[in-house]
Amino acid sequence: MRLADRLAARIRATGPMTIADYMAACLFDPAEGYYATRQVFGGAGDFITAPEISQMFGELIGLCLAQSWLDQGAPSPFTLAELGPGRGTLMADLLRATRGVPGFQDGMQLVLAEASPRLRDIQRQTITRDLTHIDQADQLPDAPLFLIANEFFDALPIRQFVRAGDLWSERVIGLKDNALAFGLSPPAPLPLLNHRLADTQGGDLVEVCPQAEAWIEPVAQRIARHGGAAILIDYGAGPSLGDTFQALRAHQPTDPLANPGEADLTAHVDFVALTRIAEAAGVAVTKITPQGALLKALGIEARATRLAAGLTGEPLERHTAALARLTLPQEMGTLFKAIALYPKGQNPPPGFAT
Ligand code: SAH
Repeated sequence: MRLADRLAARIRATGPMTIADYMAACLFDPAEGYYATRQVFGGAGDFITAPEISQMFGELIGLCLAQSWLDQGAPSPFTLAELGPGRGTLMADLLRATRGVPGFQDGMQLVLAEASPRLRDIQRQTITRDLTHIDQADQLPDAPLFLIANEFFDALPIRQFVRAGDLWSERVIGLKDNALAFGLSPPAPLPLLNHRLADTQGGDLVEVCPQAEAWIEPVAQRIARHGGAAILIDYGAGPSLGDTFQALRAHQPTDPLANPGEADLTAHVDFVALTRIAEAAGVAVTKITPQGALLKALGIEARATRLAAGLTGEPLERHTAALARLTLPQEMGTLFKAIALYPKGQNPPPGFAT
């Protein structure tokens, strides 16, 4: 049975489903899930991510993490981790760029969090060295942790709640005339959103991402206990206010309830919520830094000039366009944001606003 029909049957049997359950089914259904089946990244896919735009992205992230590792006394052994590595491009660029950092790759245990078996295979082909795949944060080794997550948190399932007085109604997905349609559950108290009663009013919609919280807390605990740094880059800001649930298919926005499994489903990342949880777990967190500002502070312009020296014609034009795309405000430069988690009392990784 097609995924759309299976979802409808499930709703008929057990009632409306949360947006989180819908997202998880659409992205990871073993037969028809988006990440399980589709060639999603790059120009031919539905979206293109920063590491696929230019090798400079992974190189600079790598040097940033390696510098932070040096600043913290080059702990060894340590974990180098990536959450949601996609095709493995960022990690391959990072490993190439840090080859010359003495000791960095000797004490490193490489850990990749990836839910899609198909992407795990691709990552093993791209990153030709020993690595461990995990699918839950508590599988991260108890060791110093240097971690990157680019466009990972936006893919995690969200739930949406609409405020009614001091109660909240969950926005759910049911059936209307046999087609998937949004609806609202009856209002109920929701302790998890008590802290949002202060900065919202009746009718406001707030998104929460339980899995994001489940990933960030163990990451922060390891950094607090053993040292390390985590760089999170995504689009969003926070605190969450309003509906950001969206579907992208062949680079075009589309109805998230149409064609389940065939579009990329995402939501903006609430960096304010992630910061709150990380700080509660005992680490320091940088200010939210725009991607363009971070890459410039890490030296992307000098690196771009050096790479341009070996290029002419079309490749040079593509390289110049890639720099603009990653950094300019009207491109990814301000829409995408970064934060870094680091041990209290230490310096933050280079490039971040504090
Ligand atoms: N970081 C890559 C890919 C981003 S797409 C890039 O920048 O190009 C999101 C990635 O996260 C994919 O690899 C997807 O399979 C993975 N992913 C999404 N949800 C996940 C989850 N719950 N657990 C592990 N991996 C997940």
